Amino acid sequence: MTNLLNFNQPQLAEYFTGIGEKPFRAKQLMRWMHHFGVLDLDQMTDIAQSLREKLRNETEFTLPDVQLEQISDDGTRKWLIGTDNTKDGSANSVETVFIPEDDRGTLCISSQVGCALECTFCSTGRQGFNRNLSVSEIIGQLWIANHSLRQSEGYNMLPANDRIISNVVMMGMGEPLANYDNVVTAMQIMLDDSAYGLSRRRVTLSTSGLVPAMDRLKEDCPVALAVSLHAPNDALRDEIVPINKKYPIKTLMAACERYLVKAPRDFVTFEYVMLDGINDTLEHAKQLINVVRDIPCKFNLIPFNPFPNSGYDTSKPMQVRAFRDMLMQAGYVVTVRKTRGDDIDAACGQLAGKVLDKTRRTQKTIPIQPTS
Ligand code: SAH
Ligand code: SF4
Repeated sequence: MTNLLNFNQPQLAEYFTGIGEKPFRAKQLMRWMHHFGVLDLDQMTDIAQSLREKLRNETEFTLPDVQLEQISDDGTRKWLIGTDNTKDGSANSVETVFIPEDDRGTLCISSQVGCALECTFCSTGRQGFNRNLSVSEIIGQLWIANHSLRQSEGYNMLPANDRIISNVVMMGMGEPLANYDNVVTAMQIMLDDSAYGLSRRRVTLSTSGLVPAMDRLKEDCPVALAVSLHAPNDALRDEIVPINKKYPIKTLMAACERYLVKAPRDFVTFEYVMLDGINDTLEHAKQLINVVRDIPCKFNLIPFNPFPNSGYDTSKPMQVRAFRDMLMQAGYVVTVRKTRGDDIDAACGQLAGKVLDKTRRTQKTIPIQPTS
């Protein structure tokens, strides 16, 4: 059976041509599957009965399983997406997080089960790499979040064309550029007007700096770019972001400059996790300003989210402020990431298979309706 949720529109058109159908069917089907969120062939009334019959026999719409949905007191939601149907749900699951804000709704999507890049402060990295997510598992996270939010009180009153999820960040588990083809196809579906119609400026890919893939991305699917810098010199970055040994800071900065030529936004966001006593001194801030001097950029300081046996502490708030002020005085826009969804462990960098602990701390657990 062919899973139609694995295709972007051009691939779907090719599929239809291959089975002797008109390629414009692809647009109709994209609208049903993604724009309306309908996966029931019986409801797809503008598709001829005979074609629906053919699709029923040869294709499927398979979403990843939702093992758990949690809602935080602050409105943040988290879904535990089980990808391989393990019995206890403790392995091979990834997480998706929705963060509502006044002016936007952001969905944080995972791209891999685990991650091979082994950044020392990242709980996903500590798990090691398990496997890449398929296109349907990546875009399925957006489908599932949309579906769930649309059914919720407060959201179901919105006019149909008002997007609850206005922004997507590829900042969940995994390194998106290490699962390049599937991530790009899924992002093309996010941007497709017949599907989710998100603006390129509102889809952000975060990478730890896979330079060759950054160069491909700017040609294939230029979206907003966030780069996990985390250290202002190679000695320290080699240690905490080991991919730096392959693509050191200078090489990475040059790739950022090349990316900006094609990017939908005229700046790169540098993410910088604040690790107490490791990378958070004013000397580090000074070096950082020097390192990025040729790149139009903003900074996003992320207070380290601790996890058991991490070996790191979160920088003191005073230190974060001093670091921020130094960057601001040098003329940069700096945001300090607020921790949201604390009560459901939805914070960045905590998205890892701590399933059993997490369920104990659930505020409100909603049984997931089977989707038709
Ligand atoms: N692999 C990609 C995207 C996923 S991680 C990347 O590394 O960019 C999203 C962000 O969370 C990255 O900047 C990552 O370095 C950061 N992060 C990872 N673990 C963290 C932790 N424990 N506390 C705070 N931020 C963390
Ligand atoms: Fe992978 Fe990103 Fe975690 Fe590094 S920070 S181990 S690249 S998910």
